Amino acid sequence: TSFGFARVSESARQGLVNEVFSKVASRYDLMNDLMSGGLHRLWKADLVTALAPPKSDVPFALIDVAGGTGDVASRFLDAAGTGSTATICDISKEMMEEGKRRSKGRERLTFVQGNAESLPFEDRRFDAYTIAFGIRNVTHIDTALAEAYRVLKPGSRFLCLEFSSVEMPLLDRVYDAYSFNAIPALGRLVAGDAESYRYLVESIRRFPTQERFAEMIRDAGFERVRYRNLTGGIAAIHLGWRL
Ligand code: SAM
Repeated sequence: TSFGFARVSESARQGLVNEVFSKVASRYDLMNDLMSGGLHRLWKADLVTALAPPKSDVPFALIDVAGGTGDVASRFLDAAGTGSTATICDISKEMMEEGKRRSKGRERLTFVQGNAESLPFEDRRFDAYTIAFGIRNVTHIDTALAEAYRVLKPGSRFLCLEFSSVEMPLLDRVYDAYSFNAIPALGRLVAGDAESYRYLVESIRRFPTQERFAEMIRDAGFERVRYRNLTGGIAAIHLGWRL
């Protein structure tokens, strides 16, 4: 099945993505909870565990790309020591405004508007890069991966949490039925907007499989690339090292 987004040109696509997130920003976290049945919280906790931030006061700078309302960065700072800082870089002002409202008073957290495909940071600036449910929205994934590599210090990690391909018989069918019917319906109900959530489902379908995505990460120069399925492959965490 193909919805409107499949037909738009590459250059128009990012504009539509931005529209989606500016529209849903204020209800974004609620929608996440409803649609994933709270699972996204467990998955994000898994991501931060995989990141294993230092508990000490040694400096450790995380960049969380497509960080949106700041879920991953906040969890990271909660788990990390006082030397850690987080920079959220997202293309949507509205999502980051929502994040700023939520994180008022939180120290060591910075918001910078920018595109994953051309990060506004110098080379080798960060100790870790995370992107959660974001790379799927980027027009050129290979360019975003090259940028991730560029801004990471040698000896540091790239971690990506993303919806993936369900690799469990039966669960795949339930998941199909759920995503093509329930998700747009929920979108209509809560956000008054079924179309945006059709985009969401469609973008998940179009995203490369676990193996293929791992290959793309390797192609960007990362080494020791691995992935782990979460909830039967509904989501996956990919990890790679810039050595
Ligand atoms: N990481 C957050 C989370 O897990 O809750 C937000 C994920 S949200 C599904 C996707 C985010 O990607 C949105 O905030 C959107 O603005 C951002 N985004 C989309 N295209 C982007 C791009 N090219 N560069 C940076 N951020 C982008």
